[in-house]
Amino acid sequence: MNLKDPSLFREAAFVAGTWRAAQEDGVAVINPATGATVGKQPSLSQREIETAIGAAREAFSQWREFTGKERAAVLRRWAELAIANVDDLAAIMTLEQGKPLNEAKSEIAYAASFLEWFSEEAKRGYGHTIPEPKRGQRVRVVKEPVGVCAAITPWNFPSAMVTRKVAPALAAGCTVVLKPAPQTPFSAMALCVLAERAGLPKGVLSVVTGDAEMIGEVLCASETVRKISFTGSTAVGKTLMAQASRTIKRLSLELGGNAPFIVFDDADLDAAVSGALASKFRNAGQTCVCVNRFLVQRGVHDRFVAKLRDAVATLRVGDGFAEGSTIGPLINSAAVEKVTRLVSEALARGASLALEMDTPKTGGHFYPPTVLTGVTAEMTIANDEIFGPVAAVTCFDSEDEAVALANATRYGLAAYVYTRHLTRSLRLERRLDYGIIGINEAMISTEVAPFGGMKESGFGKEGSFLGLDEYLDSKYVCYGGI
Ligand code: ADP
Repeated sequence: MNLKDPSLFREAAFVAGTWRAAQEDGVAVINPATGATVGKQPSLSQREIETAIGAAREAFSQWREFTGKERAAVLRRWAELAIANVDDLAAIMTLEQGKPLNEAKSEIAYAASFLEWFSEEAKRGYGHTIPEPKRGQRVRVVKEPVGVCAAITPWNFPSAMVTRKVAPALAAGCTVVLKPAPQTPFSAMALCVLAERAGLPKGVLSVVTGDAEMIGEVLCASETVRKISFTGSTAVGKTLMAQASRTIKRLSLELGGNAPFIVFDDADLDAAVSGALASKFRNAGQTCVCVNRFLVQRGVHDRFVAKLRDAVATLRVGDGFAEGSTIGPLINSAAVEKVTRLVSEALARGASLALEMDTPKTGGHFYPPTVLTGVTAEMTIANDEIFGPVAAVTCFDSEDEAVALANATRYGLAAYVYTRHLTRSLRLERRLDYGIIGINEAMISTEVAPFGGMKESGFGKEGSFLGLDEYLDSKYVCYGGI
């Protein structure tokens, strides 16, 4: 790997302000496009995790005394450094995660946007005053940082999920122990190098690697850690919620999704297809807001499928570094096996293959972009998160049927609707049980809006002014005898 600044690539963890290199405990990180080893990450001991928590506690008493403006300055410098190093950060990401280099660069811009946004919000941890209920009183509500926070992040957005959690926490005055996904630790470490350069005081941020279960246990058992913010699978989210109940921690959980993409007869089909391509196939289908189910009204079903097939046929699967690749590999062989199983079960139960593209024969974890029609609500593919480049299409007749199908899931993260009918859009805005809804819009992720789900997709908002609140406690103070 040719980095302009090789010091961004660290085969190390960052504990209490000190880099701890991988030694014989090193665990390999694999490039999913080639199977080659990218580097090694250390397996920290329980004691080292506790050291990171202890350092975060000590640093908290200092960091919370920084004014919002002082914290803002550090976050802004960090954002500027991320943008200045976009080429290196993107290269590290493509190497360990596989996504096409251009997508990796966009993710770095998105990651930096959270640093910038929360550098601005750092100045706005407003409380409020309440007119006194009795004479001689004053009633104030002040906002204070929650304290030491733990952030656990996934591999699909190795940089953006880090800043989406760490930036609001730091802006609020909290300190953080971050555990990135074992598949993509180097993106998090590179960001951590830049945070240090931006002037983040020692101990305010530690980035730890090692056995996930042990780290989860230690973070949850700690009375010092007051909040856990997690993005990942619903199964692990449930485990963390149960474990965190022992010490009654605050939680933000951003879990799985089963996004419907509803296309009505009156939709602009070209807009729907370009939205479908972006939302379904970005990151090879490995995002929690990726379309999982295309619900298409009968009158446009065949035309939509034909246009979608033509659009999917233009995708090029390959190594994220190769010129022209628009779809990279899946993260590992287990992911390929899971998608293969979902597709063969759907075909065995009556779905049809409208398109299956080719994949490179180079040994990476590639899966061919695929379009399936005739998918029904009983098939596993309509209920489990696919997390792969497979468009599963179901035909419906009425609006009521579409809403019933869309809501018939335990998830509630993102939903998409394509229609030119104003009153229908307004009805669906209320009827869809989802935390994020795109109407004639498939690119819904932005730092300015609250990202988060309902039902088993979790709770807690990331981004927007609400994102800061997740890391603040309200303290009500009543003065008497005035
Ligand atoms: P995926 O299946 O997509 O990898 P996971 O939910 O397993 O999703 O992983 C998301 C993050 O949660 C990763 O950082 C992973 O290491 C971490 N993780 C997995 N199991 C646990 C656990 N028991 N406790 C804490 N973190 C965990």
